[in-house]
Amino acid sequence: MDLKEQPLKLYFIPYLAAGHMIPLCDIAQFFASRGHHVTIITTPSNAQILHQSKNLRVHTFEFPSQEAGLPDGVENIFTVTDLEKFYRIYVAATILLREPIESFVERDPPDCIVADFMYYWVDDLANRLRIPRLVFNGFSLFAICAMESVKTHRIDGPFVIPDFPHHITINSAPPKDARDFLEPLLTVALKSNGFIINNFAELDGEEYLRHYEKTTGHRAWHLGPASLVRRTALEKAERGQKSVVSANECLSWLDSKRDNSVVYISFGTLCYFPDKQLYEIACGMEASGYEFIWVVPEKKGKEDESEEEKEKWLPEGFEERKKGMIIKGWAPQVLILEHPAVGAFLTHCGWNSTVEAVSAGVPMITWPVHSDQFYNEKLITQVRGIGVEVGVEEWTLSAYFQSQKLVGRDRIEKAVRRLMDGAAEAQQIRRQALNFQKTAANAVQEGGSSYNNLTSLIHYLKQFRDRKS
Ligand code: UDP
Repeated sequence: MDLKEQPLKLYFIPYLAAGHMIPLCDIAQFFASRGHHVTIITTPSNAQILHQSKNLRVHTFEFPSQEAGLPDGVENIFTVTDLEKFYRIYVAATILLREPIESFVERDPPDCIVADFMYYWVDDLANRLRIPRLVFNGFSLFAICAMESVKTHRIDGPFVIPDFPHHITINSAPPKDARDFLEPLLTVALKSNGFIINNFAELDGEEYLRHYEKTTGHRAWHLGPASLVRRTALEKAERGQKSVVSANECLSWLDSKRDNSVVYISFGTLCYFPDKQLYEIACGMEASGYEFIWVVPEKKGKEDESEEEKEKWLPEGFEERKKGMIIKGWAPQVLILEHPAVGAFLTHCGWNSTVEAVSAGVPMITWPVHSDQFYNEKLITQVRGIGVEVGVEEWTLSAYFQSQKLVGRDRIEKAVRRLMDGAAEAQQIRRQALNFQKTAANAVQEGGSSYNNLTSLIHYLKQFRDRKS
């Protein structure tokens, strides 16, 4: 076979967090579906949450539980609820696993490494082996641009994103510790051959693609939405963890509802709100009068609480009034969002949730908590007009720190009504969301923007390989 025709050999190293691993493995699947040889490098319990596809090979390394001081099987940050264990997993993944991963890659080098930006040392490894390295961090390019813009600025209180294509005011400044953690990682990422973005170019927009290339001289390939690689209901239902409710149960409950009448509520895999905040959400939703599916993460480490203690965040008789479905644990999010009965998504603006809502044509009520989420909120509401803000005032350091300022029930009720009551503004937002849904679907079809980006990225990587040989 002509060298040019030979499939590429790629290693993917996802970070041990559900929100990084799920989309990167779906993106790996895009490469595999074009006939390239993809190996995912991870640990045994994380291997279980990957795409169970025949096309992907998985190479596992024992997770260094003992050295990291973690119980067996705790290998992903979404399984922990405190900062100390979060940090232990970070150390295990990026420091303790470094040596075994490096020797594996050195023994049998690929044509390209696609690694999460947390594995900053892949930069040296790829340089030593003279192979290209692509980085992934699960953010939109819009958020990366915003982070790059604030990188060199001192920021306090509300601020306007400096030197930015749109005039965007952020109501509270990112905590210093969060910036100190993220910014050096972004700087190393800029030394790579490019970012892989789980988005389609049209949602970030031409202006941000140009802005990014102009201000950083770095490239970004939009290959998403990653979740659209999953075509069948089963593939969608099996994404991530095993759901605590059957997909059928959710879908038949939704089948009994009118189109656009249900609010889907989820704050991703890392937000643990205090009971007082959950209580406000319950009251706000009840006051709005709209039905809902509400995903509340399991309270890990609190198994010894009595049933009564566990449920004290629910108003008296709330569950009996059956105004919605509460899912305590993992939910089949992509399937739920795609159901016609779902009319809005109350979301923490995690990037995966955002792009999944866009892919399903569902407008959002935005409730950012930390990290890139405050920038994503602005892209959703002010820039692309596909959602409304609930009105969060405070940026927390990470999901493990609880915001001191609660979002009150009145704000929640008001934001839900604003999107669900069908007034002119809501209709316009819904139309816009449906337009982006169509664009997202086209992007991953043959000839679409993400499809073509993947073609050109494969071409670029092949040129690299062929020059080397
Ligand atoms: N997810 C899911 N079911 C759940 C919770 C989360 O399928 O009950 C998936 C969701 O579809 C998304 C990811 O987990 O793909 C969460 O990523 P996101 O960036 O939205 O938030 P994070 O958890 O990283 O804050």
